[in-house]
Amino acid sequence: MNDCLFCKIVSKEIPCEKIYEDKDFLAFLDINPVNQGHTLVIPKKHSRTILEMSDKDTKEIMIVVRKIANKIKKSLKTDGINIMINSESAAGQIIFHTHIHIIPRFLGDGLKHWPGQEYKPGEAQFIAKKIISTV
Ligand code: AMP
Ligand code: ZN
Repeated sequence: MNDCLFCKIVSKEIPCEKIYEDKDFLAFLDINPVNQGHTLVIPKKHSRTILEMSDKDTKEIMIVVRKIANKIKKSLKTDGINIMINSESAAGQIIFHTHIHIIPRFLGDGLKHWPGQEYKPGEAQFIAKKIISTV
């Protein structure tokens, strides 16, 4: 955990451009923004991904995210906002301390969504059943 970059930001060993802080959460500008104002919201308590967080912390961090996203939208006059979480390398996570991206979006900013694919007949029902039946 000592090697975690975002824990070091929490402990102020590494500086950040802070946007918000309370006793449990911290938000700061992403050092390499997709668009200006791109912000990361993190829990101060280390967890690898949001999948390991408590129900309470998950609820509370999303409230912080919503409030900051509204401030970003208003202050930077964005046309939209992406709120994203990358969990594990396969999903693009490179910093293994839970963080939620708030990405300001502007019409024509060129950022593309991931491509979709169609289900074959019966596949959607099969997948839905598999997810629902797993505890
Ligand atoms: P992810 O791919 O979801 O793990 O995203 C990690 C994000 O952390 C990237 O968007 C990086 O630009 C950002 N990042 C890495 N180091 C720092 C830092 N020292 N301060 C702020 N953001 C950082
Ligand atoms: Zn950490």
